[in-house]
Amino acid sequence: MVNDTTRLLGLDGLAVTRVEDGHDGGPVVYLETADARAQACPVCGVDAVRVKEWITTGPRDLPVAGRTVGLRWRKRRWVCDRADCPRGTFTEQVEQVPARARITTRLRAAAGAAVGDGGRTIVQSARDHGLSWPVTAAAFAAHAARVLPEQPDPVAVLGIDETRRGRPRWQYNTELGVWEMTVDRWHVGFVDIGGGQGLLGQVEGRTAQSVIDWINGRSPDWRAAVGHVAIDMCTVFKAAITSALPHATLVVDHFHVVQLANKVIDEVRCRRTAQVRGRRGRSGDREWDLRNKLTANVENRDRDKTRAMVAELADLGEIGPPILAAWLAKEELRHLLALARTHPDRHQISQRLFRFYSICADGGVPEVQRLATTVQTWWPQIEAFLHTGITNATSEGINRIVKLEARTAYGFRNPTNQRLRTRCATTRRARGCLNPA
Ligand SMILES: [Zn+2]
Repeated sequence: MVNDTTRLLGLDGLAVTRVEDGHDGGPVVYLETADARAQACPVCGVDAVRVKEWITTGPRDLPVAGRTVGLRWRKRRWVCDRADCPRGTFTEQVEQVPARARITTRLRAAAGAAVGDGGRTIVQSARDHGLSWPVTAAAFAAHAARVLPEQPDPVAVLGIDETRRGRPRWQYNTELGVWEMTVDRWHVGFVDIGGGQGLLGQVEGRTAQSVIDWINGRSPDWRAAVGHVAIDMCTVFKAAITSALPHATLVVDHFHVVQLANKVIDEVRCRRTAQVRGRRGRSGDREWDLRNKLTANVENRDRDKTRAMVAELADLGEIGPPILAAWLAKEELRHLLALARTHPDRHQISQRLFRFYSICADGGVPEVQRLATTVQTWWPQIEAFLHTGITNATSEGINRIVKLEARTAYGFRNPTNQRLRTRCATTRRARGCLNPA
């Protein structure tokens, strides 16, 4: 006969016999076994008939109605009388309270889900659930194993990007008299772009071999399904993909190309300021005052103000014209990249590319010519972007969550834990609340 209190507590296989007030304000709930299967020997499966002794255990459980509950389960220790069974005695167990467990299955699951799905740290979840750090960490690992797939589903577009793990460490080399970077840790992330799988995996170190190893860890069918791979202009990733996924098309999106062009403007400006003025730029120097306007998109600014800026730079002695050449190259490159998603034909593309190359050549500025060379080197991948419109923005967005997770945890000591936490935070299947279905 199931009573209301048993129904309220909801621990399957256990029945409430009575409830008393505890010392610390929460109730103490007395339980008895209400599952006939608890009588069966866990080794031979035959029901025992002889009771050795009665014992009382107090497993910890989730709060009921906001109050901590003290459980007192009075249960039997049975004797297995089968002659051929190696088990002498056994205690009763139910699914929520396995043998020897000091916490209920549901408390363990809640502590793990708070970290994996609730975005809490191990320390905070441990405090909230009254558990220790190792128990909560193990509960989270069990949660992650449950929600994260062993192998990712096929992806059409794979994104690869790198994230710095922690801060780089520097050491002073007394022999050479220079500072040297001694520790520089990176994670390379693999992202499902366009699909809903989020972060598929991470590997430590940013070498071509580490990328190749991860890709070779997937099935041949999975590798064959990858049609495009989005990367930033990184030769390591290019070499790795050419080797591991030779059939896939590499794509470099406009973001990193424009970022590079803006960096060129800054480099030219700093170099000319140093050469002409003999010092660094500062407020009051016109090229310094214009620095943010130079890197802004031309269509976001007033047409007359842009015209005035161009006239001013052309007139700014020895400093202005090289900066203007870099700015013109940047805008011409953006004009070319704007063809993406417009289904451009080859003629349109080659026309704008030719204009960009001639502007770079005409300016006679070494940094700008280097930009043209870089674009030339990466042209097949940039052209693939113009035709497909595929960007690595998803990877960049996931990088933001990766860093947020590291900050929330005040850094990680264990990179394996970090990868597990990061994957739980960035994989939609692991986070029910973000599942679009
Ligand atoms: Zn037995």
